Amino acid sequence: METPAPEQIITQEILESNLAVIKERIKAVCERVGRDPNSVRLLPVSKTKSEKVLRMAYAAGVREFGENKVQEAQQKAEEMADLTDARWCVIGHLQTNKAKYVARFAHEFQALDNLRVAEELDRRLQQEGRSLDVFVQVNSSNEPQKFGLPPADVAAFIQELPKYSALNIKGLMTLAEFSSSEERVRACFVRMRELQTQLRENLPAGINIDELSMGMSGDFEIAIEEGSTVVRVGQAIFGERGLPDSYYWPDK
Ligand SMILES: *Cc1c(COP(=O)(O)O)cnc(C)c1O
Repeated sequence: METPAPEQIITQEILESNLAVIKERIKAVCERVGRDPNSVRLLPVSKTKSEKVLRMAYAAGVREFGENKVQEAQQKAEEMADLTDARWCVIGHLQTNKAKYVARFAHEFQALDNLRVAEELDRRLQQEGRSLDVFVQVNSSNEPQKFGLPPADVAAFIQELPKYSALNIKGLMTLAEFSSSEERVRACFVRMRELQTQLRENLPAGINIDELSMGMSGDFEIAIEEGSTVVRVGQAIFGERGLPDSYYWPDK
């Protein structure tokens, strides 16, 4: 494993100002495209950041934390168990053998892309007497190294989900293509919105996919323009990370 670079120093004031700026930017795009700013949920992504920084965010009013890795998320949830209204959102790929941990502490899982994980999560959640908000991850850029279902496979996948009654399906999640071309990034978000529309024509009973989790620090405004309802923002709130993104988005 790579040694993390020293964490960028962030103060309570900077964090609060970063948060205010992001909220303002969300509001501004919404107004520009005629959307209600309350229809976009800001999910702060706190991966690699220390407990101290997460507590600063909590003091600034943050009540949910997006974490990419299960172990890191679980450790933080334990360290911060005193913050009883904090929600823990696992947004990264999950191996089946780690589903049991997610079932214990997480409130939300945004990267469901295979039925083995669905089955195992459901089984463990039933044992724990819990339920979990879930997003189905879609590989909207068709990059072979990326996680997520190919768009063409999502319809059949969703038909299988009603049998996992502890999974509360909320919608679809994606990472756009990593590209400096705004058009290529936007195309991913448009594809997601069109997929959502198409899937709605034949959803199984009891399943809703009203949420679209798309957009990060570098592209959340484009995502909101194209219909995102959840933006996952890390660096623009918490500062740069010590670890490179390749650590969090390993090739399959
Ligand atoms: C890290 C991460 C984000 C946030 O990325 P930033 O560039 O820091 O905003 C969003 N989604 C996922 C799945 C991530 O792992």
